[in-house]
Amino acid sequence: MQPRQAYEELTRKVKEEAVLASCVEVLGWDEETYIPGAGVAHRAEQQALLAGLLHDRATDPRLGELFAALEGSDLIADPDSAEAVNIRELRRLYDRAVRLPRSLVEELARITSIAQREWVTAYERSDWSYFQPWVEKVLKLKRAEAAALRPDHDLYETMLDEYEPGMTVRQVAALFDALRGELIELTGTIAASPRRANLSILHRSYPLDRQRQFGETAAAAVGFDFRRGRLDTSPHPFFARLGPSDCRITTRFNHHRFGDGLFGILHEVGHALYEQGLDPEAYGLPIGESVSIGVHESQARLWENTVGRSLPFWRHFYPQARALFPDALHDVSLDEFYFAINHVAPSLNRVRADEVTYNLHILIRFEVERALVAGDLDTADVPGAWNELYRRYLGVIPANDAEGCLQDGHWGGGLIGYFPTYTLGNLFAAQLFERASAELRNLDDDFSQGRFDRLLDWLQQRVYRHGQRYPAPRLIEHATGAAPDHHPLLAALRRKYGELYRL
Ligand code: ZN
Repeated sequence: MQPRQAYEELTRKVKEEAVLASCVEVLGWDEETYIPGAGVAHRAEQQALLAGLLHDRATDPRLGELFAALEGSDLIADPDSAEAVNIRELRRLYDRAVRLPRSLVEELARITSIAQREWVTAYERSDWSYFQPWVEKVLKLKRAEAAALRPDHDLYETMLDEYEPGMTVRQVAALFDALRGELIELTGTIAASPRRANLSILHRSYPLDRQRQFGETAAAAVGFDFRRGRLDTSPHPFFARLGPSDCRITTRFNHHRFGDGLFGILHEVGHALYEQGLDPEAYGLPIGESVSIGVHESQARLWENTVGRSLPFWRHFYPQARALFPDALHDVSLDEFYFAINHVAPSLNRVRADEVTYNLHILIRFEVERALVAGDLDTADVPGAWNELYRRYLGVIPANDAEGCLQDGHWGGGLIGYFPTYTLGNLFAAQLFERASAELRNLDDDFSQGRFDRLLDWLQQRVYRHGQRYPAPRLIEHATGAAPDHHPLLAALRRKYGELYRL
């Protein structure tokens, strides 16, 4: 077979698979937004069947023949060409898929679909022991999956590799070790400062319809394309790409919590800008797909925090916020408002954590997960281990499981090895923004004028358009000139919070 012919057959098959996979996305989106409780059991069957069908296609022996025909061909001569990247990444996925028995794939889809729902019940009852058997089941299946994928390899690293290909547990642990002490110290220094934000202003009356209006305005201003996406509400904000021109985001609004709705939107908008920036023509092919969860998260964090919680951003948006929420903000100055949305304090809740303490929440989950997978921690002992780490790193202790180890549903969904990507996202975001600021100059002036196009364009050129051309660590190096590094994040936090808290 001619390599060109093999390549065309390969991409045709893979694009079809992407269409089928996008149906799974639609079901998942519905499951997180509007499905009635009684619909879950049938949905689990749908998910299991589709996972099986996708697995059949992903392991089709014909793919193996096509890869054989492409081996050593001119198409892969330049390793950074679109063809070579597609072949390399598709081959990686194929090698991965053929190692997994179909029964295991289906069982994982079925169990995680139910376990996610059981987590909601456990959370409502604040009872870890209710959720524990489900974590046990998921953990067993994920261990089996990792062992099948890479026998004799560190199980946790194989799990991490699903979300952050190209990074080792060693690299991640080294970055996290470099952050831990510095973040604990910075949190302590801030706590010792006499400066205090007036948080009550964020809990005044913020009518929901106006919050939505304001959020949509901000989303459109930073570049979210509403013709190719929409905003809904769900208990847990998320994004989903249902097709090349259909990117869904969700948030949750609370009348007395200004930040929940808006920053939830900006976070998911960041994810969406990445997805909307991918090449629609290459939909379903690696060159047109996001590269890793860490890089994805970096975009969410960058637009939510680096941009959305910056003073220049609010120089532009605060007058609009005041006009929309006169009852809440008529007597609040821009500086007071800016301080309130950037207030730092150790807390129990990851999602609502500030930029400084956020990564400590992730470091805790990283330690707990690694111990669980290694068998050093029994699932029954998770609450104790969790609470002890919160006491040590953040000086706070959860009063119950809902406040503690039940706050995140990730493990029920099979997302083990996923948490580190949040902090990798913060690290990548800081590194990218530091470089963009140095090259573009005066980004602050842009933001103050409500202009975000130069930054978005820079990210488009350096990150989005590359799809999976480079593995994440190389992409970061390519974009910024340096390998993943903890210094830009620490420097940015020290600068911003040093000014706010007059340290
Ligand atoms: Zn995110």
